[in-house]
Amino acid sequence: MLVLAILLQYGAIGVVNTEQWIAADQAHCWHPFTRQEDWVKGEPAEPLVLVDGDGSWLTDSEGRKYIDGNASIWTNIHGHKHPLINEAMVEQINKVAHTSYLGFANPRASELASRLSALFPPKTLERVFFSDDGSTAVECALKMEIQYRIQVGQAERVHFLAFDLSYHGDTLGAASLGGVGEFFEPFRKFGFPVKHLSGLEELDALDEQTIKKTAAVIIEPLVQGVNQIRPWPKGMLAKLREWCDQHDVHLILDEVMTGFGRTGKMFACQHEDVIPDYLCLAKGLTGGYMPLAATMVRAEIYKAFLGGADKAFYYGHSYTANQLGCAAGLASLQVFEKERTLDHLPEKIECLAGELKKMAENEPLIYEVRQCGLIAGIELRRSNGQVFDGKLRVGEKVSVMARDYQVLTRPIVDTLVVMPPLSISTDEIKILCGGLAAAIKDYRSTLDA
Ligand SMILES: *Cc1c(COP(=O)(O)O)cnc(C)c1O
Repeated sequence: MLVLAILLQYGAIGVVNTEQWIAADQAHCWHPFTRQEDWVKGEPAEPLVLVDGDGSWLTDSEGRKYIDGNASIWTNIHGHKHPLINEAMVEQINKVAHTSYLGFANPRASELASRLSALFPPKTLERVFFSDDGSTAVECALKMEIQYRIQVGQAERVHFLAFDLSYHGDTLGAASLGGVGEFFEPFRKFGFPVKHLSGLEELDALDEQTIKKTAAVIIEPLVQGVNQIRPWPKGMLAKLREWCDQHDVHLILDEVMTGFGRTGKMFACQHEDVIPDYLCLAKGLTGGYMPLAATMVRAEIYKAFLGGADKAFYYGHSYTANQLGCAAGLASLQVFEKERTLDHLPEKIECLAGELKKMAENEPLIYEVRQCGLIAGIELRRSNGQVFDGKLRVGEKVSVMARDYQVLTRPIVDTLVVMPPLSISTDEIKILCGGLAAAIKDYRSTLDA
């Protein structure tokens, strides 16, 4: 019996129930963006072990159900266990899961690249470079841009412009363009040369010398995600495109979060009729099923990589253009057509706006709500408008309290994020917002006590 207990404890026999999954996690796993010393103590809450999903709902290992309020970290589009995507993936896995893209083509990647290009006017973003996730989609655009400048004889033009508090992923190059200090300060000196701007006004104030060194500007169009869901002023993107054209600077759009319908249109750039030079896609590309990314590139840029071995783009990942991922991506695009996903968004966006307005009116701790399509941030502050002391971890605590009301989300500092799958119903939006409102109220009562 003792031997059995020891074997069980150390996982030699099996880790098969909630308690064992959590113990094994706390003993062996290392979570992203997580204070591990608290996590392993089960603070501020015991880990939930998620085992099942269906539509907008997730189920934990104890059988409790929750609305997936942040679309599984901003990835899910059509809901979990979508029959059409599941079917497409099963069909693909019965053929082959993965084959090398180095030296070989594959049907699903060919189809997906054509479908993606066809979402834009002909002769624009007609080349697609596949990689694995948002960070690599950006990393790849940055390296392409540097190599492009060198190959067209502008070797001095390899600096980037980015915006304060932006987020472009965690690989070294992508992270060096991000503007969130805590994330990147220790690595700053290893990154790409970059100048951060607060907005368009600073762009106009740049001197000629700086502009001549600038290869590209990178931006999260329409709304910054990690910066606590902060929309840009209307018209800003179109003006940025104009500035880039005037100064021979390329425009890299990071639509890793905004892509695939989140803002109400298929891509955020379509709200202002902007076509970038590079478009970075990931999170929603597979409907939230598989890690797959695409860097879409203008034909003119691609041309600079032709003409001999020394011109080739020497970059790639083992799982580039993974067939299973591409099958999921294709199926997701089919669901957009079949379910007319985009046509149903206005009603949902309006419902969310109404719910948020109601919440803000009734809850003194809500300082501001910010919304862009089906993306929203609910910023919590003291009722006198003062920000909470970071040590209180208010956003985190409220998010944990929301679990009691069947809602899962993850905050950014004290901003609660609402970013459900696009397939969410208006009734489910009401459950989601109602749950968050109840959790905020519960937290407020702990302050009064
Ligand atoms: C999430 C995100 C990334 C990074 O994507 P990963 O898949 O996490 O590497 C990059 N840019 C934006 C705007 C994002 O929201």
